[in-house]
Amino acid sequence: MNKDIATPVRTRAILEKYGFSFKKSLGQNFLIDTNILKKIVSFADLTENSGAIEIGPGIGALTEQLARSSKKVIAFEIDQRLLPILQDTLSPYENVRVIHKDVLEADVRIVMEEEFQGIHDIMVVANLPYYVTTPIIMKLLEDRLPIRGIVCMLQKEVADRISAKPGTKEYGSLSIAVQYYTEAETVMIVPKTVFVPQPNVDSAVIRLIKREKPAVVVKDEAFFFQVTKASFAQRRKTLLNNLTSQLPDGKQKKEEILAALSASGIDPVRRGETLSLEEFGRLADELYSYFH
Ligand code: SAM
Repeated sequence: MNKDIATPVRTRAILEKYGFSFKKSLGQNFLIDTNILKKIVSFADLTENSGAIEIGPGIGALTEQLARSSKKVIAFEIDQRLLPILQDTLSPYENVRVIHKDVLEADVRIVMEEEFQGIHDIMVVANLPYYVTTPIIMKLLEDRLPIRGIVCMLQKEVADRISAKPGTKEYGSLSIAVQYYTEAETVMIVPKTVFVPQPNVDSAVIRLIKREKPAVVVKDEAFFFQVTKASFAQRRKTLLNNLTSQLPDGKQKKEEILAALSASGIDPVRRGETLSLEEFGRLADELYSYFH
């Protein structure tokens, strides 16, 4: 087997060979611990028939592990300077395709159709650039791509918010947005020492497994998310206060909002952070006719 890319010595040698300097603005914190990489890959439950999508391969540390554990890997990398390096480091792996693109601009569905013909089990596995973790995760979920799920490294603080349960201080509109589409779980806390350069914040790995259908069935998805966002606008305010101040013409519609809360069996003095997804679903559906 080829020598691992993700050791401190090999990584340093690769960076020196190409005179590579990290760009903080691109969230470049590379992993230099093979054990951590293998663990990340193991959380994805890949088989020799699986496809993997990576975002930000860097110098190929995770890509290499994915190439060894799956049928095919597609990796989106924004930084042109990494392309010749990846061509070199990943040359032993014929099942990797690096695409030079900002993943937020890419049509991932089309790329998947072209590159994953005959492959049906597909996971996104990534050590995400921390400046855009939430937009990337939301894009992958909202585009409803044919993936089984996502295993990714991100800031621990964001991981906590994504996998938070009702009644905790981390629970908010991001928890709901992600848990609407997936079963979310933090699977590993990762020390700063396994990166070069070390990030300023703590890290964690989350696993998101897509639900067969959304966690709640609602009349209008966009309105459901509007209601959840409104409910968390000011965390110390009651649900009634947030809804009247945040929903369009909410102040004039206070009676209707009270009626909807009552019809959905939710006390108006509760705070948004205490409501489950089901309760938000009921509330949004009761409010719907008053706002459309
Ligand atoms: N996978 C490598 C590893 O684990 O060592 C590198 C991970 S590093 C945290 C994030 C990578 O994402 C960098 O290679 C960076 O250039 C790339 N990147 C940043 N923004 C991106 C974007 N919008 N689209 C694609 N790649 C991006």
